[in-house]
Amino acid sequence: MKSLFQKALLSITCLLLISLTHATLAQEFSRAVQPYVTIEDNLVALTHAKLIDGTGAAVKTDQTLIYEDGIITAIGPSASTPVPSGAKEIDCSGKTIIPGLVMLHEHIFYPKPYDGIFSVAQMTFTFPRLYLAGGVTTIRTAGSIEPQTDLNIKQSIIDGKMLGPKMDVTGPFIERPGTPVPEVAAIKSSDEAEAMVNYWSDRGVNSFKVYQNVTKEDLERVVKTAHARGKKVTGHICSVTYQEAAEIGIDNIEHGFFQSSDFVDDKVENFCPAFKRGQSLRNLPEDSPKMKALIDYLIKSNVAITSTLPVFEPYTGREIVLGNGLDAMSPEIRESLVNSHTRMQGRDEASQAHFKKQMAWEKKFYEAGGHLLAGTDPTGAGRTVAGYANQRVIELFIEAGFSLTDAIKISSLDGARFLESADKIGSLEVGKQADIVLIDGDLEADISNIRKMELVFKDGIGFNSPAIFESMKGKVGMH
Ligand SMILES: [Zn+2]
Repeated sequence: MKSLFQKALLSITCLLLISLTHATLAQEFSRAVQPYVTIEDNLVALTHAKLIDGTGAAVKTDQTLIYEDGIITAIGPSASTPVPSGAKEIDCSGKTIIPGLVMLHEHIFYPKPYDGIFSVAQMTFTFPRLYLAGGVTTIRTAGSIEPQTDLNIKQSIIDGKMLGPKMDVTGPFIERPGTPVPEVAAIKSSDEAEAMVNYWSDRGVNSFKVYQNVTKEDLERVVKTAHARGKKVTGHICSVTYQEAAEIGIDNIEHGFFQSSDFVDDKVENFCPAFKRGQSLRNLPEDSPKMKALIDYLIKSNVAITSTLPVFEPYTGREIVLGNGLDAMSPEIRESLVNSHTRMQGRDEASQAHFKKQMAWEKKFYEAGGHLLAGTDPTGAGRTVAGYANQRVIELFIEAGFSLTDAIKISSLDGARFLESADKIGSLEVGKQADIVLIDGDLEADISNIRKMELVFKDGIGFNSPAIFESMKGKVGMH
């Protein structure tokens, strides 16, 4: 039996522990993070906002949202949702709030071709914080070149040492020889593919991506191994058709229907017919019954499709760096982007027509009940940059004919559903994490107001979006 003294000591220890845990709730931020933290209050009320909740529900006006300790506690009409005493009130009159975006094709690297070789470089310092500035509170990296760096970045963000979103880190590209990118390793057997999944799962990677030259057997082994460990598999595929990947049990396919080799007549098994694929897609009519059949099969097989419209955006009459990101670029890259953009004006009719058709296919997939996800893919010709491109995603969904509420839902709740985190993130609902974007304008009146993000809240901490964007000007490509 414990003595009274022991009991007293025990309860004092318990009290100490409780106060310690309580103290750690208020996170400490490093000198790199603190200057961009605008709101740190525990109890916050966003009042008189136009609200798009991310569930697809209609836009609501004059709403109040309250959160405490990073969790949303109330949402309702401002008239009937009183601001609790002691709450920090932010008047959102004339402004819009949407959920923090959840985007699923967000690399931490950027293209740096040289000597005619396509190469990519890790953007450890610019990209994570630009995602956050662009309203993205959760990303999946959808293929890493430095998976250990990405895992370390994720931890540094959790620890308050770096600015950035919540991260679902994807393993390194799983690929056979045939992709001449110096940062991409090539496997020689399906055993190696399986070993990669196990190795990186042990180190905290949560998703996997196969690339365009894998075999069906590689994909089978990756899917089987990943699923056994509770992880999902996506693919930027070509050697394996969308139909075959769905049969094998892939969870997700990247890049809308841009990479589909399903319509190449004499397709050879396990071989990527890169040229014929482009041709077959350009020749395929928008209302092709073959495409409809593929869409239906993907939906039946529960395969999600990630739309990455920004990386395919044509040149003519469009921005150099999508979402007005040209000033973010380091001088050398900026110059080369301006030059190639000038050169391409009026010379991309085919890609303009194809882009339009691809938008229509993504919309058909969504309208038939398909699980469409949103992403940017900051690669390609270098016009797609973290943060800026994520805002551009929303504008492109509107251009494709999606409703505003669907565009937001695809870019928030539908991504969270895929990550199996919809109980915590993805929409503005009571009980969920306070991941919120405050837009300085009426998003319903003008979609380009998506570029006027004022504050991006992650777990109730409000970050200054314009200041983060400003701090990264001239840095992308370098850091
Ligand atoms: Zn990609």
